[in-house]
Amino acid sequence: MTRLADRLKARLAELEKNQVRKRERVLTTPQGSHIEIGGLGPMINFCTNNYLGLANDPAVIKLAQAAFKKYGYGIASVRFIAGTHEIGLKLEKRLAGFLEQEAVMTYTTCFDANAGLFEALLSAEDAIISDALNHASIIDGVRLCKAQRFVYKHNDLTELELRLQEAKSAPVRLIATDGVFSMNGDLAPLDKICALAQKYDALVMVDDSHAVGVVGPQGRGTPALFKVVNKIDLLSGTFSKALGGGVGGYVAGRQIYIDALRQFSRPYTFSNALPPALSATVLGILNIVEMADERRANLSALTGYMRQSLTKLGFTIKPGSHPIIPIMLFDGAKAQQFATKLVENGIFAVGFFYPVVPQGEARIRVQISAAHVKADLDRALAVFEVVGKELGILKPIT
Ligand SMILES: *Cc1c(COP(=O)(O)O)cnc(C)c1O
Repeated sequence: MTRLADRLKARLAELEKNQVRKRERVLTTPQGSHIEIGGLGPMINFCTNNYLGLANDPAVIKLAQAAFKKYGYGIASVRFIAGTHEIGLKLEKRLAGFLEQEAVMTYTTCFDANAGLFEALLSAEDAIISDALNHASIIDGVRLCKAQRFVYKHNDLTELELRLQEAKSAPVRLIATDGVFSMNGDLAPLDKICALAQKYDALVMVDDSHAVGVVGPQGRGTPALFKVVNKIDLLSGTFSKALGGGVGGYVAGRQIYIDALRQFSRPYTFSNALPPALSATVLGILNIVEMADERRANLSALTGYMRQSLTKLGFTIKPGSHPIIPIMLFDGAKAQQFATKLVENGIFAVGFFYPVVPQGEARIRVQISAAHVKADLDRALAVFEVVGKELGILKPIT
């Protein structure tokens, strides 16, 4: 026991030494664009996936209150034992329609959905061809599966094609990619990926967690944006981001895949079902999201303004159009210092460093929400400028 404790103490001390130990702030208010953090007071919040501002929206709270009243709190077992609630099936059908896929099944998280996907569907001779920057849940899901693994450099189509050639003898090839990459805010080029998939007779799986609600017409995600909805074989996603920020995940795709997952996917078979009240709430949220063009336009305008203003100040940001805006600081300790100074000035944003991002690519990630107003961004920009100068990270403006 002391041997393990000593080893862990040393590992944690190493994090402290490198100033990269993660600290959790204590929220004392509901989630939103303005929050309070215990001991630090009010903050403008730039680190949630609350893209449409629904996490504390009165309409959503009303939906949830009515749903808990009607459906109770929990379901207290897995679906094949305790039964599958009709409202859960209704949500799956509605979501399938929204995503334009044959069928959907829900999980309690998207992490579980991805963890249980590959192993359930593929066998050892098959091949998974995976983007190097895919979400941890895809990486873990791939690890749990016996299929051969091929990794291609992030969004690099030349490498993807090489990997597809290497995997030529596999009976089934599955390309796996995030739709929007959480640390970069960039999109997978699904049109080109699907073209390669067709050329090499591969299936395509997309995790659209950061896209649904935000990207594409009516927020239908990256497949809809790239007009390849009918070329995507499997789609996973979450209710924990733009769709209200609660919990819940799903896999969508052909009926046969969903039928198989209901039998073979272990997080589905051995973990509790999504509470019916949450299914009912998400059903209502989908109606809101589908009609939320105004929120999306507002979000897009705020995002454009923030990206432009940060660039003008001399920050290096990853280009793009998604409300995830990575401000590159490269050095982990600097990212940590930057985030600390932001918080001291009432701006809540978080530094990311290895192993969450590759070595030497530390960054501050700013996330814009439709719940922000321009004055929030202006206040943040003023603080960014001061801290940027203080830490000497602004490029000279040309
Ligand atoms: C957030 C995220 C997940 C995890 O979603 P949860 O439902 O919160 O478990 C999975 N994949 C991607 C790409 C994500 O961004």
